Amino acid sequence: MHEKTDVLISGASIAGPALAYWLRRAGHRVTIVERASVLRPGGQTVDLRGAGRTVVERMGLLDAVRAVQVHERGLVYVDRDGRHLAEVPAEAFGGEGIVAEIEVLRGDLAEVLHTATRDDVEYLFGDRIVSLTQDADGVDVELASGTRRRFGLVVGADGLHSGVRGLAFGPEDEFVHPLGLAMAFFTVPDHGGLDGWFGMHHVPGGVVALRPDRVPGQAKAMVATHTAEPLHRLPRERQLAVLRAALADAGWLGPQVLDDMAASRDFYVESIGQVRMTSWARGRVALLGDAAFCPSPLTGLGTSLALVGGYVLAGELAAAGGDHVRAFEGYEQRMRAYVDQAQELPPGGTDGFAPRTRARIALSRASMRWMTRWPVRPLVARIFARADAIDLPDYPLGAGAAVRA
Ligand SMILES: Cc1cc2nc3c(=O)[nH]c(=O)nc-3n(C[C@H](O)[C@H](O)[C@H](O)COP(=O)(O)OP(=O)(O)OC[C@H]3O[C@@H](n4cnc5c(N)ncnc54)[C@H](O)[C@@H]3O)c2cc1C
Repeated sequence: MHEKTDVLISGASIAGPALAYWLRRAGHRVTIVERASVLRPGGQTVDLRGAGRTVVERMGLLDAVRAVQVHERGLVYVDRDGRHLAEVPAEAFGGEGIVAEIEVLRGDLAEVLHTATRDDVEYLFGDRIVSLTQDADGVDVELASGTRRRFGLVVGADGLHSGVRGLAFGPEDEFVHPLGLAMAFFTVPDHGGLDGWFGMHHVPGGVVALRPDRVPGQAKAMVATHTAEPLHRLPRERQLAVLRAALADAGWLGPQVLDDMAASRDFYVESIGQVRMTSWARGRVALLGDAAFCPSPLTGLGTSLALVGGYVLAGELAAAGGDHVRAFEGYEQRMRAYVDQAQELPPGGTDGFAPRTRARIALSRASMRWMTRWPVRPLVARIFARADAIDLPDYPLGAGAAVRA
């Protein structure tokens, strides 16, 4: 066993590059293979909170992230005429609430992590792993391009529908627990009326949300509906049809958002689910981020889990002197409770997020109003505090190669 094991990571979004950063600092040679041909743009703002923010700070990338952060005034529920029905300002929970102190577009955060690693990490875009064969000393990997290489360790950081998980652990339906909700994210022209707020409008069974973009003249849209169909696997026409039908009665900016949806260049739809596994490692192959423990966007903690997991996985490898068996055990022990808490859905679960009846929508609005008031506020603050519920050791992760922001 040696400390400088070559590591192959699958997935270049958040978890993969975050892990690569720390592995490089510890002196590993790292390769990332990403299925998309370029760094994938898209996504709304993700919350950088609690331990996730601490990890970014330890990376020395907090200033780079702050330079691209999106300033949001808070979350507001709007009626069909755009009137504010319930507001939760960003400062209501000291920057740790529904809208966190640091909100950053997912694509921007991926870009910051890529910029910080691209000179020291080998990136293979437009490729993916098609076979993995492990023995006592390493893993033989074959890529779709036909390339064959051998690595000491392989990490799947390739999201909810992880290819590595499928190859090394088993079929998706053993681990992915669908929540019966589809969410689509895409960029739209700014039709005005947001005024810095993260606006949310409900119709029975569906949600339209708009958030400010960093780019003037644009906004980030999210639409969601309950559906048992695995929308992410269906043709685009079907995806659009299901979402349009669910939101046909939407008011506010809903009709414009639905009109813009088909033309959007970064339309991304996901069948929301959680990944639950009893173990995140098998031999020399491990999983990280959504591939291992996706909590779902409903929790607002997926990005923090990915960042923290990358730090802990690299840290445990360094602390174990490269002994991957010990390291993977340490990774699981340190992360398990944090992940379990993060996977607890907010009150009401998917029905709370997208109420199915007008009465439930009214209830949801009332609870949003109560959220910032006593006696509800401290209870809600306790839920948000989960983001920090892990002790992050100071691992022996050296200064490594020069890393840029
Ligand atoms: C385009 C996009 C938009 C998103 N938008 C939002 C959002 O608005 N709000 C939100 O809460 N979360 C969003 N997410 C999910 C969010 O990024 C994750 O929940 C969280 O940050 C954990 O990240 P991750 O790196 O583990 O997984 P992901 O961010 O899902 O990244 C997985 C990466 O692996 C790549 N990949 C997939 N399969 C393979 C394969 N077989 N081989 C190689 N590479 C593969 C994907 O292209 C992707 O780059 C989005 C993800 C993506 C990819």
